[in-house]
Amino acid sequence: MMRTHTCGELRADQLGQEVQLAGWIRFSRDHGGVLFFDLADTYGTTQAVFDPEAMSRKDVRESLERMLKSFGRESVISVAGVVRNRVPGTEDPRNPTGQLEVLIEDACLLNSSRSLPFEVADQKGSLLPSEDLRLKYRFLDLRRTQMANNLRFRHRVVAALRRALDDRDFVEVETPMLCRQTPEGARDFIVPSRIAPGTFYALPQSPQLYKQMLMVGGMDRYYQVARCFRDEDSRSDRQPEFTQLDLEMSFVDDRDVQTVVEGVLSSMWRSIYGRELKAPFPRVTFHEAMHSYGTDAPDIRYGLRLHDVTDIVKNARYEIFQRILGKGGRVVCMNVQADLMNGAGGEEGAVGRNEVDRLIEWAKAQGMGGLTWMRMTADGLQSNIVKYFPTEVTAALQTEMGAREGDLLLFLAGSEIAALKAGGELRRKLARDLRLTEGKDHQFVWLVGCPLFQKDSESGQLEPFHHPFVCPEKGEVEGEDPICVGGLSYDLVLDGSEIGSGSVRCHDPEVQRKVFRLLGMSDEKIDNDFGFFLDALGYGAPPHGGIALGLDRLTAILLGCDTIREVIAFPKNKKFQSLMDGCPAKVEEGKLSELQLLCLAGDEEDGD
Ligand code: ASP
Repeated sequence: MMRTHTCGELRADQLGQEVQLAGWIRFSRDHGGVLFFDLADTYGTTQAVFDPEAMSRKDVRESLERMLKSFGRESVISVAGVVRNRVPGTEDPRNPTGQLEVLIEDACLLNSSRSLPFEVADQKGSLLPSEDLRLKYRFLDLRRTQMANNLRFRHRVVAALRRALDDRDFVEVETPMLCRQTPEGARDFIVPSRIAPGTFYALPQSPQLYKQMLMVGGMDRYYQVARCFRDEDSRSDRQPEFTQLDLEMSFVDDRDVQTVVEGVLSSMWRSIYGRELKAPFPRVTFHEAMHSYGTDAPDIRYGLRLHDVTDIVKNARYEIFQRILGKGGRVVCMNVQADLMNGAGGEEGAVGRNEVDRLIEWAKAQGMGGLTWMRMTADGLQSNIVKYFPTEVTAALQTEMGAREGDLLLFLAGSEIAALKAGGELRRKLARDLRLTEGKDHQFVWLVGCPLFQKDSESGQLEPFHHPFVCPEKGEVEGEDPICVGGLSYDLVLDGSEIGSGSVRCHDPEVQRKVFRLLGMSDEKIDNDFGFFLDALGYGAPPHGGIALGLDRLTAILLGCDTIREVIAFPKNKKFQSLMDGCPAKVEEGKLSELQLLCLAGDEEDGD
C-alpha cells in the first residue's frame, strides 16, 4: 500500500496514529534544520515535518535528511510517520487538515519532477501564467486546486443531470461520431475514408438527425452527453469541440419539453446547491427580448429596459435625431434609475458627468454616432441639449420612462437593429459597471416565439433561424409569407447567455421537404442530402421534440468562470490549437497517400 490516507483526509481522530501519505511536494521549507513539506494531492494538502531532534539513530536521520533535502517541488513522494498536533499558533484554519501534521519517520521518492514552467501552488489570478503556457502544461495546471475543483464541480453537475434524466425514464444512447453532415449552420470537420477513397465522413455538429431517427425508432425518451464538432472561425469563447446534454422526446409539444428541462435542472439544483430552483422559468418572446433588452439572450435580473421613443422624440428639433429618423432610423431610451447608481456614491450617483462622457466615447467605439443623455431634476429633464426638446416632448419622455429625480435617461439612435443591439450592449456594460448582478441568484429564462427563418443579410436568401428541422408554429409553411412564419423553437438563457436551444420537429416528411425548398434547395439536392431522413419520417415518425444544453457554458456560468476553457480538461486555445500535444499537425506523406490526399499536401507545398 502506498498510502493509508489521502492528503485531505487526516483529522483529530487520527492523532497519534502511524499513517502513510503519498502526494506531490507543493512547497518545502527549512526552518533551522526542521524541514516542512506541503504534501498535496487532489483531495487536499497535509503538512509533513522532518524534525532531526525527534530521530534517535544518527545514521537513519542523516540518510533520511539527505534524501528529503534532495526532493524538488512537484516531486511525488510517499512518507510514513505519526500524526500529531501542530505547534500552537502555527495551525492553518483555512485548511481542513490544518490542525495536524505528520512527523516523518520514513520517506521514499516515487518519481521526481523536472524544473517547473510555472508555480503549481495556488496563486491569485493576476499571478497565473499566460493561458497558452497553462494549456501547454495542462497536466500541471490541472494539479491547481482551482482547476481540480472546476472539473469536480462539472462532474457533479453532469452526474446530477444524468440521475434526473434516469429518474424520468430517459435512455442514454450513443450516436455515431463518423456520420453524414448534420447541418447546424457551421462548417463540418471532414474525415477521409481510406477504404472508399474520395469519400468522407463528417464529425457531428450535433446528434440532431440521429436523435430524431431514435424517435422514429420508437425510443421515446433519449439523452446523451454528446460531443459536438463545429469548424467555426475561432472566436474568443468558442471551442471547435464542445459538449451538449442532448435530449429528445416523442409525443410532446414545446411546453412538455420545457417542463421536463425545468424538472431536470431543478433536481440538479437541489443536488448541487441544496435548495429549490424557481420554476417555471419566465418566458420572454423574441420580439420582447430584442425590443426591451436588445438581445436574444436577455439577462432579466436587472431593469434598464429599452423603450422605443421614436414617436415621442420625432417632434424635437434635435438635429442628430432628425437626421437619423429621416433615414428611417429609431431612437431607443433607457432609464438608469437613481437607486441603481447610488451604490458607488458621488453627487450625481455612479454615473456622473465624467462617466457619461466615457459612455459617449464607448458608444462611438460601438459604431454608434454617439449617445444622448438627460438627467431628471426637481425642475424636470436637464442636459446640454434639452433646449431642443419642447416641453410636451420632455413631459412625454418623463412619463414613458417613469423618470424620477436623480434618474439618468440615455438615448441611442440608428437603424432599428443597430440602436437595439447597442442598447443591449449598453445594458450589459452598465450592469457590469454598476455591479447590478452582484449577490443576485442565477436566472433561467425561456426565449420563445422565434421566427422559423431569417434572411441572409447579403443574398437575401432565407436561412433557418435555428436549424432546418424546426416545426413551423402552425405545423405548415404554406399560405403565409415565409419570413413571417413562427417556429416551435425555444432557447434556454442563463444570466444573459444562451445555454440551450431546442424545438418541436417537423415529423411530416412533406412539411420538412417544403421547409428545405424554402431554404433554396432543389428537390435533387434534398433527395441527395436528406433522402434517407425524409424516407425515415415517412415510416410513421411520431410527433417529437427536444433540446440540447451546452454543458461547458452551463458549468462555466455556475462557477463564475470567464471562459469555458476553465471547465474543459483539455481545451484548444483561442486559435483552436492544442498546445499540449501540438495539433493540428502535419501528417506523414504515407498516410496521406493511403487516403489519396497526397495531392492536397503537394498543393500546399507548392503554395509555400
Ligand atoms: N441540435 C440542436 C443544436 O445543437 C439542438 C436541438 O435542436 O435539439 O443546437
